[in-house]
Amino acid sequence: MQPPISFYGLTRTDLKDLLMTFRDFSPQGLNQVSGRIFTEVYQKGIRSAHVLGQVSAPVRQFLAEKLDFSLPLQCARHESSDGTTRLVFRLEDSSSIESVLIPMGEDADGTRRTTLCISSQVGCAMGCTFCLTARQGLKRHLNPAEIVSQVIAASRITPPGRIVFMGMGEPLHNRSAVFTACHILNEDFGLDYSRQSMTISTSGLIAGIEALAEEDCALLAVSINASEDITRSRIMPINRRHSLKPLMESIQAYQLKTRRWPLLEYVLLKGQNDTVEDARRLAGRVQGMKAKVNLIPFNEHHGSEFLRPSDETITLFQEELMRLNIPVTVRTSKGRDVSAACGQLASEERARDSASLL
Ligand code: SAH
Ligand code: SF4
Repeated sequence: MQPPISFYGLTRTDLKDLLMTFRDFSPQGLNQVSGRIFTEVYQKGIRSAHVLGQVSAPVRQFLAEKLDFSLPLQCARHESSDGTTRLVFRLEDSSSIESVLIPMGEDADGTRRTTLCISSQVGCAMGCTFCLTARQGLKRHLNPAEIVSQVIAASRITPPGRIVFMGMGEPLHNRSAVFTACHILNEDFGLDYSRQSMTISTSGLIAGIEALAEEDCALLAVSINASEDITRSRIMPINRRHSLKPLMESIQAYQLKTRRWPLLEYVLLKGQNDTVEDARRLAGRVQGMKAKVNLIPFNEHHGSEFLRPSDETITLFQEELMRLNIPVTVRTSKGRDVSAACGQLASEERARDSASLL
Protein backbone atom coordinates (compact mmCIF):
# COMPACT_ATOMS: atom_id res chain seq x y z
CA MET A 1 0.00 0.00 0.00
CA GLN A 2 1.19 3.53 -0.85
CA PRO A 3 1.85 5.73 2.23
CA PRO A 4 -0.81 8.47 2.56
CA ILE A 5 0.00 11.72 0.79
CA SER A 6 -0.61 15.09 2.41
CA PHE A 7 -3.98 16.64 1.67
CA TYR A 8 -2.36 20.09 1.74
CA GLY A 9 -0.32 19.37 -1.37
CA LEU A 10 -3.39 18.71 -3.53
CA THR A 11 -5.05 21.20 -5.83
CA ARG A 12 -8.79 20.77 -6.21
CA THR A 13 -8.15 19.14 -9.61
CA ASP A 14 -5.76 16.64 -7.95
CA LEU A 15 -8.46 15.85 -5.37
CA LYS A 16 -11.03 15.32 -8.12
CA ASP A 17 -8.65 12.97 -9.94
CA LEU A 18 -8.17 11.01 -6.74
CA LEU A 19 -11.92 10.81 -6.07
CA MET A 20 -12.46 9.47 -9.60
CA THR A 21 -10.21 6.52 -8.75
CA PHE A 22 -12.71 5.65 -6.00
CA ARG A 23 -15.86 5.85 -8.11
CA ASP A 24 -17.29 7.37 -11.23
CA PHE A 25 -18.75 10.68 -9.98
CA SER A 26 -20.85 12.85 -12.31
CA PRO A 27 -19.09 16.15 -13.11
CA GLN A 28 -21.58 17.95 -10.86
CA GLY A 29 -21.18 15.44 -8.02
CA LEU A 30 -17.40 15.70 -8.27
CA ASN A 31 -17.54 19.49 -8.07
CA GLN A 32 -19.80 19.33 -5.08
CA VAL A 33 -17.90 16.77 -3.06
CA SER A 34 -14.44 18.25 -3.77
CA GLY A 35 -15.74 21.75 -2.92
CA ARG A 36 -17.19 20.51 0.37
CA ILE A 37 -13.96 18.80 1.35
CA PHE A 38 -11.92 21.94 0.61
CA THR A 39 -14.35 24.09 2.61
CA GLU A 40 -14.35 21.78 5.60
CA VAL A 41 -10.60 21.45 5.72
CA TYR A 42 -9.49 24.97 4.82
CA GLN A 43 -12.37 27.09 6.11
CA LYS A 44 -13.63 25.03 9.06
CA GLY A 45 -10.28 23.60 10.15
CA ILE A 46 -11.22 19.88 10.02
CA ARG A 47 -8.03 17.83 10.44
CA SER A 48 -9.28 14.25 9.93
CA ALA A 49 -11.13 12.54 7.09
CA HIS A 50 -13.31 10.76 9.64
CA VAL A 51 -15.02 13.98 10.75
CA LEU A 52 -15.77 15.43 7.33
CA GLY A 53 -19.48 15.99 8.08
CA GLN A 54 -20.59 16.82 4.55
CA VAL A 55 -19.15 13.71 2.92
CA SER A 56 -20.58 10.17 2.74
CA ALA A 57 -19.08 7.45 4.97
CA PRO A 58 -17.49 5.42 2.11
CA VAL A 59 -15.79 8.54 0.71
CA ARG A 60 -14.56 9.45 4.21
CA GLN A 61 -13.10 5.98 4.61
CA PHE A 62 -11.42 6.18 1.18
CA LEU A 63 -9.91 9.60 1.98
CA ALA A 64 -8.71 8.41 5.39
CA GLU A 65 -6.79 5.60 3.71
CA LYS A 66 -5.30 7.70 0.92
CA LEU A 67 -4.60 11.07 2.52
CA ASP A 68 -2.85 12.50 5.53
CA PHE A 69 -4.71 15.46 7.05
CA SER A 70 -2.18 16.30 9.76
CA LEU A 71 0.01 19.36 9.17
CA PRO A 72 3.51 18.32 8.00
CA LEU A 73 5.18 20.73 10.41
CA GLN A 74 5.23 21.90 14.00
CA CYS A 75 5.45 25.53 14.89
CA ALA A 76 7.00 27.71 17.60
CA ARG A 77 6.35 31.45 17.84
CA HIS A 78 8.43 34.44 18.89
CA GLU A 79 6.65 37.76 19.36
CA SER A 80 8.35 41.06 18.65
CA SER A 81 7.55 44.25 20.59
CA ASP A 82 6.22 45.85 17.36
CA GLY A 83 3.62 43.10 16.82
CA THR A 84 5.65 41.05 14.32
CA THR A 85 5.60 37.30 14.98
CA ARG A 86 8.40 35.01 13.83
CA LEU A 87 7.29 31.42 13.32
CA VAL A 88 9.85 28.64 13.37
CA PHE A 89 8.64 25.39 11.81
CA ARG A 90 10.13 21.99 12.34
CA LEU A 91 9.49 19.74 9.34
CA GLU A 92 9.01 15.99 9.40
CA ASP A 93 12.67 15.36 8.50
CA SER A 94 13.69 17.65 11.41
CA SER A 95 14.92 20.45 9.17
CA SER A 96 13.45 23.84 9.92
CA ILE A 97 12.19 26.94 8.17
CA GLU A 98 10.72 30.28 9.20
CA SER A 99 7.77 32.51 8.35
CA VAL A 100 6.98 35.99 9.62
CA LEU A 101 3.58 37.58 10.35
CA ILE A 102 3.86 41.33 9.88
CA PRO A 103 1.07 43.73 10.94
CA MET A 104 0.61 46.38 8.24
CA GLY A 105 -1.82 48.76 9.98
CA GLU A 106 -5.52 49.21 9.39
CA ASP A 107 -7.75 49.87 6.41
CA ALA A 108 -10.11 52.85 6.40
CA ASP A 109 -12.88 50.56 7.73
CA GLY A 110 -10.74 49.52 10.70
CA THR A 111 -9.87 46.04 9.36
CA ARG A 112 -6.38 45.04 10.45
CA ARG A 113 -4.09 43.96 7.63
CA THR A 114 -1.37 41.40 8.10
CA THR A 115 1.23 40.16 5.63
CA LEU A 116 2.71 36.69 5.94
CA CYS A 117 6.23 36.18 4.62
CA ILE A 118 6.80 32.48 3.83
CA SER A 119 9.69 30.21 2.87
CA SER A 120 9.99 28.12 -0.27
CA GLN A 121 13.18 26.15 0.48
CA VAL A 122 15.28 24.99 3.42
CA GLY A 123 18.25 27.30 2.86
CA CYS A 124 19.01 28.73 -0.58
CA ALA A 125 21.42 27.94 -3.40
CA MET A 126 21.83 31.48 -4.74
CA GLY A 127 24.65 32.59 -2.48
CA CYS A 128 23.90 36.32 -2.22
CA THR A 129 26.73 37.65 -0.10
CA PHE A 130 24.56 39.90 2.12
CA CYS A 131 21.92 37.27 2.97
CA LEU A 132 21.92 35.13 6.08
CA THR A 133 19.88 32.32 4.49
CA ALA A 134 22.59 31.94 1.83
CA ARG A 135 25.05 30.72 4.44
CA GLN A 136 23.06 27.52 4.89
CA GLY A 137 23.34 26.61 1.24
CA LEU A 138 20.40 24.71 -0.22
CA LYS A 139 19.26 21.85 2.01
CA ARG A 140 16.16 20.97 0.04
CA HIS A 141 13.07 22.28 -1.74
CA LEU A 142 9.81 22.51 0.19
CA ASN A 143 6.87 20.58 -1.21
CA PRO A 144 3.50 22.27 -1.83
CA ALA A 145 2.04 20.87 1.42
CA GLU A 146 4.87 22.40 3.46
CA ILE A 147 4.35 25.76 1.76
CA VAL A 148 0.55 25.75 2.21
CA SER A 149 0.87 24.55 5.82
CA GLN A 150 2.87 27.65 6.78
CA VAL A 151 -0.21 29.69 5.85
CA ILE A 152 -2.58 27.40 7.76
CA ALA A 153 -0.42 27.49 10.90
CA ALA A 154 0.03 31.28 10.74
CA SER A 155 -3.72 31.76 10.21
CA ARG A 156 -4.35 30.27 13.65
CA ILE A 157 -2.61 33.34 15.05
CA THR A 158 -3.82 35.94 12.52
CA PRO A 159 -5.27 35.16 9.09
CA PRO A 160 -2.99 37.13 6.74
CA GLY A 161 -4.41 39.34 4.00
CA ARG A 162 -1.27 39.05 1.86
CA ILE A 163 1.27 36.31 1.31
CA VAL A 164 4.78 37.09 0.11
CA PHE A 165 7.42 34.52 -0.84
CA MET A 166 10.18 36.58 0.74
CA GLY A 167 11.26 34.20 3.48
CA MET A 168 13.94 31.57 3.08
CA GLY A 169 14.79 30.29 -0.36
CA GLU A 170 14.50 31.25 -4.02
CA PRO A 171 10.88 30.51 -4.97
CA LEU A 172 11.52 30.33 -8.72
CA HIS A 173 14.24 27.73 -8.12
CA ASN A 174 11.40 25.57 -6.74
CA ARG A 175 8.78 26.88 -9.07
CA SER A 176 6.69 23.80 -9.66
CA ALA A 177 5.97 23.41 -5.91
CA VAL A 178 5.52 27.18 -5.47
CA PHE A 179 3.07 27.48 -8.38
CA THR A 180 1.11 24.45 -7.14
CA ALA A 181 0.95 25.99 -3.65
CA CYS A 182 -0.33 29.26 -5.17
CA HIS A 183 -3.09 27.36 -6.98
CA ILE A 184 -4.09 25.62 -3.73
CA LEU A 185 -4.09 28.93 -1.82
CA ASN A 186 -6.10 30.49 -4.65
CA GLU A 187 -8.91 27.89 -4.50
CA ASP A 188 -12.14 29.75 -3.72
CA PHE A 189 -13.62 26.91 -1.68
CA GLY A 190 -10.35 26.84 0.27
CA LEU A 191 -8.27 29.75 1.57
CA ASP A 192 -9.30 31.91 -1.39
CA TYR A 193 -6.22 34.11 -1.84
CA SER A 194 -6.49 36.10 -5.04
CA ARG A 195 -3.54 36.14 -7.43
CA GLN A 196 -3.02 39.80 -6.57
CA SER A 197 -2.76 39.05 -2.86
CA MET A 198 0.31 36.81 -3.31
CA THR A 199 3.78 37.97 -4.37
CA ILE A 200 6.70 35.83 -5.50
CA SER A 201 10.07 37.50 -4.95
CA THR A 202 13.00 36.29 -7.03
CA SER A 203 16.68 37.04 -7.28
CA GLY A 204 16.16 37.10 -11.04
CA LEU A 205 15.80 33.65 -12.61
CA ILE A 206 14.73 34.63 -16.11
CA ALA A 207 13.13 31.32 -17.13
CA GLY A 208 11.17 31.45 -13.87
CA ILE A 209 9.96 35.00 -14.57
CA GLU A 210 8.79 33.86 -18.01
CA ALA A 211 7.02 30.89 -16.44
CA LEU A 212 5.33 33.15 -13.87
CA ALA A 213 4.12 35.45 -16.66
CA GLU A 214 2.56 32.37 -18.28
CA GLU A 215 1.12 30.90 -15.07
CA ASP A 216 0.02 34.28 -13.63
CA CYS A 217 -0.66 32.71 -10.24
CA ALA A 218 0.88 35.56 -8.15
CA LEU A 219 2.48 38.99 -8.56
CA LEU A 220 6.19 39.37 -9.35
CA ALA A 221 8.87 41.06 -7.23
CA VAL A 222 12.50 41.06 -8.36
CA SER A 223 15.51 41.77 -6.15
CA ILE A 224 17.50 44.16 -8.35
CA ASN A 225 19.82 45.33 -5.56
CA ALA A 226 22.36 47.11 -7.80
CA SER A 227 22.38 49.61 -10.61
CA GLU A 228 25.23 48.05 -12.59
CA ASP A 229 26.47 44.55 -13.35
CA ILE A 230 29.83 44.82 -11.68
CA THR A 231 28.24 45.47 -8.27
CA ARG A 232 25.36 43.06 -8.79
CA SER A 233 27.68 40.22 -9.78
CA ARG A 234 29.71 40.86 -6.64
CA ILE A 235 26.75 40.64 -4.25
CA MET A 236 24.49 38.29 -6.25
CA PRO A 237 26.34 35.49 -8.07
CA ILE A 238 23.20 34.78 -10.14
CA ASN A 239 24.02 38.00 -12.05
CA ARG A 240 26.96 36.28 -13.72
CA ARG A 241 24.41 34.08 -15.51
CA HIS A 242 21.52 36.54 -15.84
CA SER A 243 22.86 40.07 -16.08
CA LEU A 244 20.82 43.25 -15.61
CA LYS A 245 19.95 43.93 -19.26
CA PRO A 246 18.25 40.58 -20.04
CA LEU A 247 16.78 40.59 -16.54
CA MET A 248 15.13 43.99 -17.05
CA GLU A 249 13.92 42.83 -20.47
CA SER A 250 12.26 39.79 -18.92
CA ILE A 251 10.57 42.00 -16.30
CA GLN A 252 9.33 44.29 -19.05
CA ALA A 253 8.00 41.27 -20.97
CA TYR A 254 6.23 40.08 -17.80
CA GLN A 255 4.60 43.50 -17.44
CA LEU A 256 3.44 43.59 -21.03
CA LYS A 257 2.05 40.08 -20.90
CA THR A 258 0.26 40.26 -17.54
CA ARG A 259 -0.44 44.02 -17.35
CA ARG A 260 0.57 43.78 -13.68
CA TRP A 261 3.11 46.14 -12.11
CA PRO A 262 6.18 44.26 -10.86
CA LEU A 263 7.92 45.34 -7.68
CA LEU A 264 11.65 46.01 -7.94
CA GLU A 265 13.33 45.44 -4.59
CA TYR A 266 16.59 47.21 -3.85
CA VAL A 267 18.50 46.38 -0.67
CA LEU A 268 20.55 49.44 0.32
CA LEU A 269 24.05 48.43 1.42
CA LYS A 270 26.35 51.10 2.83
CA GLY A 271 29.13 52.04 0.42
CA GLN A 272 28.14 49.36 -2.11
CA ASN A 273 25.07 50.52 -4.02
CA ASP A 274 23.70 53.54 -2.14
CA THR A 275 24.94 56.67 -3.92
CA VAL A 276 22.83 59.24 -5.74
CA GLU A 277 24.68 58.11 -8.87
CA ASP A 278 23.34 54.58 -8.24
CA ALA A 279 19.83 56.01 -7.87
CA ARG A 280 20.20 57.74 -11.25
CA ARG A 281 21.46 54.61 -12.98
CA LEU A 282 18.63 52.59 -11.42
CA ALA A 283 16.10 55.18 -12.62
CA GLY A 284 17.59 54.89 -16.11
CA ARG A 285 16.88 51.17 -16.12
CA VAL A 286 13.34 51.54 -14.75
CA GLN A 287 12.25 54.59 -16.77
CA GLY A 288 9.45 53.79 -19.20
CA MET A 289 8.52 50.63 -17.31
CA LYS A 290 5.36 50.18 -15.29
CA ALA A 291 7.12 49.09 -12.12
CA LYS A 292 7.49 50.25 -8.53
CA VAL A 293 10.75 50.39 -6.59
CA ASN A 294 10.88 49.26 -2.96
CA LEU A 295 14.01 50.25 -1.07
CA ILE A 296 15.01 47.89 1.75
CA PRO A 297 17.62 49.34 4.11
CA PHE A 298 19.94 46.45 4.92
CA ASN A 299 19.11 44.60 8.13
CA GLU A 300 22.41 43.91 9.80
CA HIS A 301 23.08 40.44 11.11
CA HIS A 302 25.81 38.81 13.10
CA GLY A 303 29.00 38.16 11.17
CA SER A 304 28.02 40.20 8.13
CA GLU A 305 30.54 42.56 6.60
CA PHE A 306 27.71 44.73 5.21
CA LEU A 307 26.22 47.77 6.95
CA ARG A 308 23.01 49.73 6.73
CA PRO A 309 23.39 53.20 5.19
CA SER A 310 22.55 56.27 7.28
CA ASP A 311 18.96 57.59 7.22
CA GLU A 312 20.25 60.61 5.32
CA THR A 313 21.74 58.44 2.56
CA ILE A 314 18.51 56.46 2.30
CA THR A 315 16.47 59.66 2.00
CA LEU A 316 18.79 61.10 -0.67
CA PHE A 317 18.51 57.88 -2.69
CA GLN A 318 14.73 57.88 -2.42
CA GLU A 319 14.44 61.58 -3.30
CA GLU A 320 16.58 61.15 -6.40
CA LEU A 321 14.26 58.40 -7.66
CA MET A 322 11.22 60.55 -6.88
CA ARG A 323 12.77 63.49 -8.71
CA LEU A 324 13.14 61.22 -11.74
CA ASN A 325 9.47 60.18 -11.46
CA ILE A 326 10.08 56.61 -10.35
CA PRO A 327 7.39 55.35 -7.92
CA VAL A 328 9.33 54.44 -4.81
CA THR A 329 8.65 53.33 -1.24
CA VAL A 330 11.01 52.49 1.62
CA ARG A 331 10.33 49.29 3.56
CA THR A 332 10.22 49.85 7.29
CA SER A 333 11.87 46.95 9.04
CA LYS A 334 9.76 45.22 11.60
CA GLY A 335 10.59 42.43 13.98
CA ARG A 336 14.27 43.25 14.28
CA ASP A 337 14.28 42.41 18.00
CA VAL A 338 13.27 38.80 17.24
CA SER A 339 15.49 38.60 14.13
CA ALA A 340 12.42 38.43 11.92
CA ALA A 341 13.26 41.31 9.59
CA CYS A 342 13.81 40.74 5.91
CA GLY A 343 16.97 38.73 5.35
CA GLN A 344 17.40 37.71 8.96
CA LEU A 345 15.83 34.28 8.68
CA ALA A 346 18.16 31.43 9.47
CA SER A 347 16.25 28.59 10.99
CA GLU A 348 19.20 26.26 11.30
CA GLU A 349 20.88 28.00 14.18
CA ARG A 350 17.68 28.76 16.06
CA ALA A 351 15.54 25.66 15.76
CA ARG A 352 17.02 24.28 18.95
CA ASP A 353 15.87 27.13 21.18
CA SER A 354 12.31 27.05 19.85
CA ALA A 355 10.79 25.01 22.61
CA SER A 356 7.29 26.47 22.78
CA LEU A 357 5.54 24.49 20.06
CA LEU A 358 2.00 25.65 19.29
N1 SAH B 1 15.13 34.66 -2.74
C1 SAH B 1 14.17 35.66 -3.00
C2 SAH B 1 13.19 35.87 -1.87
C3 SAH B 1 13.73 35.83 -0.49
S1 SAH B 1 14.80 37.15 -0.03
C4 SAH B 1 14.85 36.95 -3.38
O1 SAH B 1 16.06 37.06 -3.21
O2 SAH B 1 14.16 37.83 -3.85
C5 SAH B 1 13.66 38.50 0.08
C6 SAH B 1 14.31 39.88 0.00
O3 SAH B 1 15.15 40.09 1.13
C7 SAH B 1 15.18 40.06 -1.21
O4 SAH B 1 14.85 41.28 -1.85
C8 SAH B 1 16.58 40.15 -0.64
O5 SAH B 1 17.42 40.94 -1.44
C9 SAH B 1 16.31 40.78 0.71
N2 SAH B 1 17.31 40.59 1.74
C10 SAH B 1 18.10 39.51 1.97
N3 SAH B 1 18.89 39.74 3.05
C11 SAH B 1 18.58 40.97 3.51
C12 SAH B 1 19.02 41.75 4.63
N4 SAH B 1 19.92 41.29 5.48
N5 SAH B 1 18.48 42.96 4.81
C13 SAH B 1 17.53 43.42 3.99
N6 SAH B 1 17.05 42.72 2.94
C14 SAH B 1 17.58 41.51 2.70
FE1 SF4 C 1 18.55 33.26 -1.67
FE2 SF4 C 1 17.08 35.50 -1.82
FE3 SF4 C 1 18.93 35.16 0.11
FE4 SF4 C 1 19.71 35.55 -2.39
S1 SF4 C 1 18.58 37.01 -1.10
S2 SF4 C 1 20.53 33.99 -1.00
S3 SF4 C 1 18.14 34.46 -3.52
S4 SF4 C 1 17.07 33.98 -0.15
